[in-house]
Amino acid sequence: MPQNILVAVAWPYANSLIHVGNITGSYLPADIFARFQRLKGNRVLMVSGSDAHGTPVTVRADAENTTPLQVYQKYHLGFLELFQKLGLTYDLFTSTHTENHFKVSQAIFLALLKNKFLYTERQLQWYAPSQGRYLPDRYVEGTCYICGYTNARGDQCDNCGNLLEATQLINPHSKIDGSAPELRETEHFYLDLGRLQPAIVEFLRQRESYWRPNVLRQSLGQIQADELRGRAITRDLDWGIPVPVEGWEGKCLYVWFEAVIGYLSAAVEWSQVAGQPEAWYEWWYNSDARAYYFIGKDNIPFHAVIWPAQLIGAGEWFSKLFEGREGNRLTLPYDVPANEFMNLEGQKISGSRNWAVWGLDFLSRYDPDPLRYYLTANMPESKDTDWSWQEFLSRNNNELVATWGNLANRVLAFADKHWDGHVPPSGALRPADREILAVVDAGFETAGKELEAVHLRAALQEAMRLASEVNKYLDQVAPWFEIKKDKAAAATSIYTALRAIDSLKVLFSPFLPFTCERLHTYLGYTQPLFGEQYIETYPDALGKHTALRYRPDRGCGRWQPSQLLPGQALQKPQPLFRKLDESILEDEKQRLGR
Ligand SMILES: [Zn+2]
Repeated sequence: MPQNILVAVAWPYANSLIHVGNITGSYLPADIFARFQRLKGNRVLMVSGSDAHGTPVTVRADAENTTPLQVYQKYHLGFLELFQKLGLTYDLFTSTHTENHFKVSQAIFLALLKNKFLYTERQLQWYAPSQGRYLPDRYVEGTCYICGYTNARGDQCDNCGNLLEATQLINPHSKIDGSAPELRETEHFYLDLGRLQPAIVEFLRQRESYWRPNVLRQSLGQIQADELRGRAITRDLDWGIPVPVEGWEGKCLYVWFEAVIGYLSAAVEWSQVAGQPEAWYEWWYNSDARAYYFIGKDNIPFHAVIWPAQLIGAGEWFSKLFEGREGNRLTLPYDVPANEFMNLEGQKISGSRNWAVWGLDFLSRYDPDPLRYYLTANMPESKDTDWSWQEFLSRNNNELVATWGNLANRVLAFADKHWDGHVPPSGALRPADREILAVVDAGFETAGKELEAVHLRAALQEAMRLASEVNKYLDQVAPWFEIKKDKAAAATSIYTALRAIDSLKVLFSPFLPFTCERLHTYLGYTQPLFGEQYIETYPDALGKHTALRYRPDRGCGRWQPSQLLPGQALQKPQPLFRKLDESILEDEKQRLGR
């Protein structure tokens, strides 16, 4: 019975470029997991989009003397280009600046209001007399009152990671002109997290046995140490989603509140553009569906505590308000496999200092699969990791090229030469042949278990271990010498090796989709392993937006051992990977920090 799997991926803020730390933090693990689940035959819906609203975008617009709309559109198009080149298979990568997202977000807000999980409060907020306006959190910087870091933002400290109360910042100053703001009163809606706390604790306890320790620490652990308090969900800001209550004109839903709703609204939009307006129910009104949230550790409180609180609090009212249906509850997160951070050559990645390896820039010089390989082998699943160009080079040359790429290439080239481009005829398999096939076939179980548990590093390591085993098998049977005295025996060896390579191709394919797809054609298959990405533009009342899509239908890959038959016509092989020269180390060192 295929399972419905929602792959919910972090929404990048449309105010900066994406670097390797972002990619390994959430986008790449989500794609590997989605590809694996599709190979298993499950029904996957992978959604995300650009986070178009909020002060990260308006701050950038002010700095560049342009409009928030232009800032968001520029970065959004860059994301689409990067995600296509990286092979990220979003069923829909959209944006929060759509009419659909506005409607869904406002319905969640009103459902919470109906269920009395919202209240209003007058609060003090920083106001800049020099500019005649309230300053949202990100417009104020100062010293963190928890750890003393002097460049903390109003909403969060980048040093200790804590969410902050902007009004408690020490030595506050406006980010725009550096002036000292003053506190003035304003009224806002609050999400009553205190009243939702028992339900959130219950939700977390049910998941305690399988969530990552770092995620539990920042959710259940934090709540047990310090009770939840209400959080403001509206802002004095004009770029965003209007508060759907009379008399609240000029205020918007706070970006943290509405951006997470994108996981739901993107599913709704995907159904609409697919011409099956109720298809999203299979993921969102289905208690058997599993929703996985791929995010970085800085987003844990929002996805493990606040988003579940919004979903629980909206209850059955969301469906009633949004589409007039009774008795539907929204699916809660099944897992939040958040990653830690990736540093760069021992230092924290910093966009402003250009201490970063940028996604698009990287792909202008290198292929996507070596990047996907290195970022998975080095994925910060349980602790921070480090990008090192030396390690990238040696993993590319010693593992991708030497262990896996050469294995596939030399066996294919040998078959091409001696059996006229066909899978050789096999005699009865000998014990060594049966043994290596059993070892490789067991990988579907062992690597599959790791992938199921979102242990992607371990799964990739397992696939690479099996490739080494096939190399050992070839050293042992040595068909290159065997053929000189007994061509039939060599044929059986090469047949066995091709079948093992055909299986390894599937085991590697969620990680290395581009090269595995090529290998798949060299092995003589005509239907592709995976579906295809494409771009579409959708008009709506807010204008139009461009989205990245994925068409899964043509993909014929299955998570199962090879059934390769003797006699299948092969294609002339090309090397899967290229060996990198040591000189890249100096080149890349020159680029960093410039
Ligand atoms: Zn701090």
